[in-house]
Amino acid sequence: MYSYFGDTTLRSWPNRKTKGLAMLRMNVIAAGVLVTAQLGLAQGAGSDWAAARQAAAVWRAEHRIIDLHQHIDCTPQHLARAVKIMDAVGVGLAINLSGGTVTRPKEGQPSEFERNKKSADTLYPGRFLFYMNLDYQNWDQPDFARQAVKQVEEGHRLGAAGFKEFKRLGLYLRDGAGNLLKVDDPKLDPMWKRLGELDMPVSIHVADPKAFWLPYNETNERWKELGDHKNWWFGDTNKFMPWKELLESLNRVIARHPETTFVCVHFANNAEELDWVDASLGRYKNMMADLAARIPEIGRHDPDQVRRLFLKYQDRILFGTDFQVVFDNLKLILGSSGNEPPPADADAEVFFAKEWRWLETRDTNWAHMTPIQGDWTISSIGLPAPVLRKVYFDNARKLLARSLPLPVVKARHTTCDFEPDGDLTKTIWQTATPVRLECQSGDGAVLPELSTSVRLLWSADFLYLGYECPCTELTVFLPPKAGAKRFALDQEGVSLWDRDVVEAFIGSDAQHIGRYAEFEVAPTNERLDLMLNLPDKDFQWDSGFRSATRADRKAGVWNCEMRIPLKALSSSPPRAGARWRLNLFRADRAHRAFLAWSPTLVATAHAPERFGVLEFVE
Ligand SMILES: [Zn+2]
Repeated sequence: MYSYFGDTTLRSWPNRKTKGLAMLRMNVIAAGVLVTAQLGLAQGAGSDWAAARQAAAVWRAEHRIIDLHQHIDCTPQHLARAVKIMDAVGVGLAINLSGGTVTRPKEGQPSEFERNKKSADTLYPGRFLFYMNLDYQNWDQPDFARQAVKQVEEGHRLGAAGFKEFKRLGLYLRDGAGNLLKVDDPKLDPMWKRLGELDMPVSIHVADPKAFWLPYNETNERWKELGDHKNWWFGDTNKFMPWKELLESLNRVIARHPETTFVCVHFANNAEELDWVDASLGRYKNMMADLAARIPEIGRHDPDQVRRLFLKYQDRILFGTDFQVVFDNLKLILGSSGNEPPPADADAEVFFAKEWRWLETRDTNWAHMTPIQGDWTISSIGLPAPVLRKVYFDNARKLLARSLPLPVVKARHTTCDFEPDGDLTKTIWQTATPVRLECQSGDGAVLPELSTSVRLLWSADFLYLGYECPCTELTVFLPPKAGAKRFALDQEGVSLWDRDVVEAFIGSDAQHIGRYAEFEVAPTNERLDLMLNLPDKDFQWDSGFRSATRADRKAGVWNCEMRIPLKALSSSPPRAGARWRLNLFRADRAHRAFLAWSPTLVATAHAPERFGVLEFVE
């Protein structure tokens, strides 16, 4: 089981599959509460869901959940209410599908999309991504196809993470002659193609529950909901397209644009027909599904059948809720709503708790989260942790890699300086909240089994970093070099970074992002540092940093502590509140992994525009 280069094995660790990695003990401090959980990476089938539920509690404490389907009006009041609830339930990032159009009201004035995005980015940076919407106003003009392409190019330029189409096509939008616009109108083809080229995923809603096409009377199972929303009834075939035709026309669009990703919302727009969803996802690799507002529907099916479907398409099902804060009265909508008294914040927390309950437990026959959608019960599907995390955030991270907010880590202040010894169980480390390196730097692919936690501390004189690295085998240079830096820029495979290392890139000069220091430490505690001023690299530079490492073979983990003199990084020492630039990396040759805290999405780690933020806090 040697995958190394020559004589470089520090230690041949037992041949354990990654799956067999030991349990990692993690302490997470969130909102002042210490949450301790065993993150089981190896799980027997019987305890799948119990372990998953524990793991998910940690993800929520760390606010790692991504809700791919929200609609939030962008006044300060609406945003504040949304963020308060997201904080309470553990949603870190929400995708606001109601970004608006990029059409300017007048030349020189910002579009609705620009205003919305700016408002959220200013008030709650890093908490929302925005999808743009299409302006159909000029549909009848002969060059509308070209105008639509221009609109998405403008959206891309303005930072739209994706494109949302509401259920307007085939149901509400009409041309100048009064005919319904078709979902697969060829006029939209150049736009769908361009969205793929720009790596902007599409979230698209067509059709609705079948009952919305059935006769409207007391026997209709959506009687109450349709009574409160008269314009959701589409049973008049003279006015609306038939239900199945809408779904099939969308599938034709998906087939015509294999390079564009279509997230078909509301469980592929057909939560009532699992076989149809299975067949469609099977046919189109560029089709995905979100869960928004359809757990009440999906939860009616045989839970084992649903679970099998989730396991089969675990890389293409994404968490989303249709949580909304809208209208002048800041109304909350929890999947759907009617004329009943509006929900309170506490109701929203119950709504999210029921989402978790359905995905994480095996409870049967319980009252679902959106009563107006129908008077029946649902049964949970209890997903295993590795699948659950894909649905909750890994799939969304990959889908949105280009647009994800740059990460922020808080370095916690300490007055007690210490000499590194590689021991991360020291109580001082417990004050710092860890960040994780678990994505490949080049493409954002997630390797949860290597999830590396890093904590940061700072004092008047030093910055400390503590890395905890799950591993199966170590690939290093032996014997380690002391007193000289191991590198050769003109040769492959002979520099310290060509084997296992942890790295930190740190820049204190906000004006010159190409100027930053680099630190590397191998499991043998061999280290090097250099100062960059891109494209120059100064290996003569000496920061005076110190480090220590420790490998625990039984636990399958190696640790590293670094202590870096702050005066080497900046002529003026940081104060609480200061924000520097940082990226963190880890190379693990046994898994062909080069993990980044903030993936650069290019072949090199030296992409300072992708660095995250190091914030110094008390
Ligand atoms: Zn929606």
